[in-house]
Amino acid sequence: MCSALLHYDSELLKVLERVYGGEVAGFLNSILSPGSRLYVRVNTLRASAGSVMDGLRERGVEAYVDEELVEALYFPVKGPFKVDLLDKRIVVDKRAAESVYMGANVYAPGVLSCKDVKKGNEVTVVAEDGTPVANAVAVTNCEEVLKARARRGIVAETAKSVYKAPKIRELPEYQEGLIYPQSLAAMYVTHVLDPGPGELVVDACAAPGGKTSHIIEYSKGGAHVIAFDHSQKRLSELVSNLERLGEERFAEVWQADSRYLHIDFPWIRADKVVVDPPCTALGVRPKVFDFKSYRDVKNASRYQIQFLRSAFRILKPRGILVYSTCTVTTEENEEVIESFVEEVGCVEVLEIGIKRGARGVLGYKYSDAFLRFHPHIHNTSGYFIAKLMKMC
Ligand code: SAH
Repeated sequence: MCSALLHYDSELLKVLERVYGGEVAGFLNSILSPGSRLYVRVNTLRASAGSVMDGLRERGVEAYVDEELVEALYFPVKGPFKVDLLDKRIVVDKRAAESVYMGANVYAPGVLSCKDVKKGNEVTVVAEDGTPVANAVAVTNCEEVLKARARRGIVAETAKSVYKAPKIRELPEYQEGLIYPQSLAAMYVTHVLDPGPGELVVDACAAPGGKTSHIIEYSKGGAHVIAFDHSQKRLSELVSNLERLGEERFAEVWQADSRYLHIDFPWIRADKVVVDPPCTALGVRPKVFDFKSYRDVKNASRYQIQFLRSAFRILKPRGILVYSTCTVTTEENEEVIESFVEEVGCVEVLEIGIKRGARGVLGYKYSDAFLRFHPHIHNTSGYFIAKLMKMC
């Protein structure tokens, strides 16, 4: 395989070959890098992308409005740069490693170990598998922070990272709720859903709220949104995101197992439902390293179809169901939709017809109707979107 950082078993690589043929190496390489654009969505209830861009540029932050989506703003990503291997190291978890890799500072919750690191020390920040992601300067005696009961705040300031883009969460625009970090491909989900005023829209796997908040903004606060997720921790992130964006009054937020919405919330008759379930996330970039097997793909696909079944049952006749994932296997995408359509019968696969991106992987009944983004081709994350209509 082309990279020692992506630990995918041979069966999973075979699956990827079915999707990408001779381009598998190109695909695997692309997910190790962030792509040349880092996107945020502008909260159009509060500002336009142009005005946010102007404000950023006045402070010397290079930003551009996307060519097609008026709410999408991007920052050019610089790099890759070489990181120095120093004696002192801070080891961080995968999630932290992937943001420090892009230039974020090192925060206490992501730190796994930092032996003998004292305030002022220059360090190499490494991921769990030892991959170096940045050089940083410790701003605290790190080991003491790890012993503290409430672990909070910055442990080290990043000086040089493999890739460099603005630290989004530290921008005033982020704190003021003017922007939300979201990949360009993910923004297309709400465009495909096209939620309008007065519609009841259910977001079945909603946390941390990227699509929920986009639905609210896209419908100018006119849609009635119900956001479900089963993770209490992630739901509290969703609520604080909605509060930061000033949108909490537009959504009802419920903890639920969304495989059983039709049983626990039988009175819901939604105009539109979005199902954005857990997936193998093979399209998410950048990855510092990754461990996945074909078994993960099979488990995910068995789980994913269960959300569709329940979503279907809370939809009105002629209601719209949009299914999306941030992964690239046909098992979790084309095949989930195909099995679901065969199983329920009275559902139509609608053609998405967005010009950007590509259609589904060839060889499936509805390949032409789907929307896909390929990281090595479209300079985005890897993404899949399908649109269905309930016909009974
Ligand atoms: N749509 C979100 C991202 C969703 S990620 C956004 O755009 O920001 C998938 C989510 O599914 C996770 O938050 C996870 O907690 C949730 N999830 C997993 N299993 C679930 C279940 N059985 N019921 C409800 N939510 C579930």
